[in-house]
Amino acid sequence: MPRYDFRCRSCGSTFELSRPMSASGEAAVCPDGHDDTVKLLSTVAVTGGASAPRPSGGGGGGCCGGGCCS
Ligand SMILES: [Zn+2]
Repeated sequence: MPRYDFRCRSCGSTFELSRPMSASGEAAVCPDGHDDTVKLLSTVAVTGGASAPRPSGGGGGGCCGGGCCS
């Protein structure tokens, strides 16, 4: 079950809730009872996709690859 971080705008505290994806848009209530909370975009891990771009060099690497640096 994904976890969501929320921040309470009444008392400023942050808290974390585990809730099903289908309920991710529902309002969360602060542990202190406040309901003026906002959901933070945070720690929900998104897997997949290319987050680490590879250097797409042209196969060169400077002039030292071809023996021109002697
Ligand atoms: Zn609060």
